[in-house]
Amino acid sequence: MKKCETLDQLRNILKADQIITEHDKLYDAAADRYKKYAKAKEQLNSPLPTAIVQPANASEVAEVLKFCNANDINVIPRSGKTATEGGLENWKENTLVIDSARLNRIVKIDSYNMEATVQAGVCLQTLEDEVRKLGLTTGHSPQSKPVAQYGGLVATRSIGQFSTLYGGIEDMVLGLECVFPNGHISKIKSVARRAGGPDIRHVVIGNEGTLCFITEVTIKLFKFYPENNRFIGHLIKDVTSGIKILREVMVAGYRPSVARVYSEEDAAQHFSAFHEGKCILIFMLEGPQGIVNATVEGINQIIRDNQSGILKPVESSLIENWFNHLNWSQERIEQEVGEMVNHSRHDGFTTEISGNWEVIPQIYDNVMNRIRTEFERFSDITMLGGHSSHSYINGTNMYFVYNYNIHCEPKDEMRIYHHPLQKIIVEETLKLGGSMCHHHGIGKYRNQWTKEEHGSAYYILEGLKETFDPKGIMNFGCIYPQPNTEHFFE
Ligand SMILES: Cc1cc2nc3c(=O)[nH]c(=O)nc-3n(C[C@H](O)[C@H](O)[C@H](O)COP(=O)(O)OP(=O)(O)OC[C@H]3O[C@@H](n4cnc5c(N)ncnc54)[C@H](O)[C@@H]3O)c2cc1C
Repeated sequence: MKKCETLDQLRNILKADQIITEHDKLYDAAADRYKKYAKAKEQLNSPLPTAIVQPANASEVAEVLKFCNANDINVIPRSGKTATEGGLENWKENTLVIDSARLNRIVKIDSYNMEATVQAGVCLQTLEDEVRKLGLTTGHSPQSKPVAQYGGLVATRSIGQFSTLYGGIEDMVLGLECVFPNGHISKIKSVARRAGGPDIRHVVIGNEGTLCFITEVTIKLFKFYPENNRFIGHLIKDVTSGIKILREVMVAGYRPSVARVYSEEDAAQHFSAFHEGKCILIFMLEGPQGIVNATVEGINQIIRDNQSGILKPVESSLIENWFNHLNWSQERIEQEVGEMVNHSRHDGFTTEISGNWEVIPQIYDNVMNRIRTEFERFSDITMLGGHSSHSYINGTNMYFVYNYNIHCEPKDEMRIYHHPLQKIIVEETLKLGGSMCHHHGIGKYRNQWTKEEHGSAYYILEGLKETFDPKGIMNFGCIYPQPNTEHFFE
């Protein structure tokens, strides 16, 4: 179907003010933060979507999806626009971006049953502010909290800074409503637990807009005890010593809300006031007073037992102050992109992976060695390091961070800089049995490894796509590799 015909027919489904076609907004919708440098320099190579549409309820979402399904129109679901992996990037000529902006209602806050129901376009910060008034918290705190919205948070399997205590979004979602390409609306009810077959929430959580559009989410609430918060920090010998301590804390059964280890390079950019050129280990403890006290005591004992890796303690108020300034507002995001127009560097690019305790230090060392010896533009790298920020009973994540000066055309930046770096990180992770993607989603630029990531279980992932999106209209190129898309990698 031609773009003009698509727009004509859309007007039979939605009101005029629900269909956005202004050039600037379509340009903004053509890509996300993955290609933010080329986007800022106005050198994007992705086509503009036909329109951004803003349905106001699940029935309107269903009508739009049925129309797109019948006419082979690509759909990109969108919420807070903080995607970092190309999930919002457009790879098709005729595409509708279905935006959650009008699904912005907090449906219910239930402080007795400790759950809240929100529509997909409710910003996490908005809900958090509301539940804080009741002495509660969502427990979810990604750095994008002031901007990200529930549809995207669930669709990407996001995780927050306090995950070691509260878990990732998958541990918080109790129920949800979503709409499939054929227009079917499914509501998964919120219950305490059930054994009614496989957990179908997990078909939706993490689908990155490739199977369905999420319209509503019910999540857990937790009691909030900010007055009991405690912070522990130490300069440490190296990443391996820090990972060993993280493991002992987790294996012993302690649940700090934050447990992190930073490499020297990453510590230098985060903790300029006190890093002294060393790696850093930090913990945050929260919850009822007795649990916090016991956790502080337990962690301090583990630190004493690992003195050979510890250099010196850090004043806890410095760690607390750092946490208070960690999140990114919309203004900060816009300022960063605005500044990119006038300079030629990329700061804070990340690739986040995970692995079990045994392999994480090895993956870290292998990646560092390969980048230092193999990456042709190594002299352009101004910072290379990483941190572990989310730990589990059997392992942890590694968040590789790199900054570089760009000495090429903006449109070539990904091919020359980011892709070779990302390739090394993913290859070393998969080689040692880790996951190439801890929390940002696969997006469109790690899809070349989706089959390797899942191995024989790709059968299940493929089956979901064939069942729920048989015509392949949902977010073309995301998660699932597609033929003839190589030019987007160039
Ligand atoms: C400064 C910054 C800090 C960040 N920190 C973190 C962090 O700490 N932890 C973390 O996990 N992530 C982080 N991210 C990544 C990002 O914020 C998360 O992936 C977030 O969950 C995306 O939510 P969003 O509402 O912005 O989604 P969007 O960017 O709008 O979309 C993200 C993906 O979800 C799909 N999607 C969106 N809405 C829907 C819907 N209603 N139905 C179906 N699919 C949908 C989109 O198609 C896309 O693939 C950060 C990003 C930035 C810019």
